[in-house]
Amino acid sequence: MDMNTTLKIYNTLTKRTESFEPITKGYVGMYVCGPTVYSNAHLGNARTYVSFDIIYRYFLHLGYKVRYVRNITDAGHLEGDQDEGDDKFAKRAKLEQVEPMEIVQRYTVDFHEVLSHFNTLPPSIEPTATGHIIEQIEMTKKIIENGFAYEIDGTVYFDVEKFAKTHNYTILSNRNLDELLNNTRSLGGQDEKKGRLDFALWIKAKPEHLMKWPSPWGVGFPGWHIECSAMSTKYLGAEFDIHGGGMDLIPTHHTNEIAQNIACNHAQPAKFWMHTNMLTVNGQKMSKSLGNSFLPNELFSGNHELLEKGYSPMAVRFFMLQAHYRSTLDFSNEALQAAEKGLTRLFNASNKLSNINFHSSSTVQINDLREKLYEAMNEDFNTPMVIAHLFEGVKLINLLEEGKEKISAQDLDSFTKTFNTFLFEILGLKSEQTGSAEKIDELMEIILQIRSEAKARKDFTSSDEIRERLKSIGIEIKDNKEGTTFQVA
Ligand SMILES: [Zn+2]
Repeated sequence: MDMNTTLKIYNTLTKRTESFEPITKGYVGMYVCGPTVYSNAHLGNARTYVSFDIIYRYFLHLGYKVRYVRNITDAGHLEGDQDEGDDKFAKRAKLEQVEPMEIVQRYTVDFHEVLSHFNTLPPSIEPTATGHIIEQIEMTKKIIENGFAYEIDGTVYFDVEKFAKTHNYTILSNRNLDELLNNTRSLGGQDEKKGRLDFALWIKAKPEHLMKWPSPWGVGFPGWHIECSAMSTKYLGAEFDIHGGGMDLIPTHHTNEIAQNIACNHAQPAKFWMHTNMLTVNGQKMSKSLGNSFLPNELFSGNHELLEKGYSPMAVRFFMLQAHYRSTLDFSNEALQAAEKGLTRLFNASNKLSNINFHSSSTVQINDLREKLYEAMNEDFNTPMVIAHLFEGVKLINLLEEGKEKISAQDLDSFTKTFNTFLFEILGLKSEQTGSAEKIDELMEIILQIRSEAKARKDFTSSDEIRERLKSIGIEIKDNKEGTTFQVA
């Protein structure tokens, strides 16, 4: 890929925007914390995974071989992000009187469906916590051996205070450790942990607990944070390029991941830590308790009191990309409707490109736009800027269509490639033709008419070719007395 600028990424670890250099030339290893599958995928999650989909797509576009690992948390996540409260799966399973793995299956399917509506590419590996119990036990054993964890009555805790004596425990959040220690509420006399900030690597299972496994410390289940350390180490090594997730994971989950990795592997795992920002609705934080949170499917159907109508997944994806991934994204009907219109303009412009006439020379500078598009992506994946430049492209397409500017064949070819590559391949938008079923009927009527005319003049080569080529794209035609019928596979 010929580019004048290098890719820069904002790194939560250093609080700086830094040039991206992969650890191994030509390869990128990226780990993104996946969902806890005990309820429907929510919109904040969808935004995070759409953001990392853009990042994944751009690395692929630049020619990197990318290993993108995104886990499924199907065990071990308690209600509190520390280790207090019930197991999220067990609670839901009890409520619905089903097996915890039925809950896991249902919401894993839902998660995949939602993301496929948003046209995100599947990750290279999607490991589950329950599939990596042995790795989590091994990592816990090593952390104990290295002196940073201890067992009390079947539960293993990470010793935060001991770790913090020799390492910067709050490097990611920049929080003041003393304040944290003072502010963390004591769990009273029941607290068996040595330090208030200590968190569980392995948790002893109560007899009624359903998802449990044998371990050197008795029957139990892994803590939430250890799964990501174990799975990222297994698939990407002790040190890899990028670790990502929603910014709500910074203070606890990612902070603890770093501590576990250092305590086990003696290495801070990721060179770059990337975090996506939150969603707001009409300027207010999106939350269930405020009644202003809607699910992706409610957004698509319009079936929510705050929504004037339904919005297509591509309009929502486009809307998400109009904000930078590190900025908050505010949902409102006006903004969604504006996004819908904007996206239609881009698709229409892309369609027009194939009808533009070329000339012997150009009156426009095509390379400028191309460079600006790459510069925008290279500036920490600045999708709103990319979209602004694509709209400059739309203006240009309109001028070319009206004959007010001229373009050479070579420039037209390069401009078309650039415009469509950014729109479809990098931003991952795809056209959603409405009424396509009726259009197919109309098209087939034309094709079958041409075929019957060919047969009438005994041009069986053409009529057979039409049948074969339709068959190759899954359309079967049948000749009978009344005429010809067709079926789409
Ligand atoms: Zn994680």
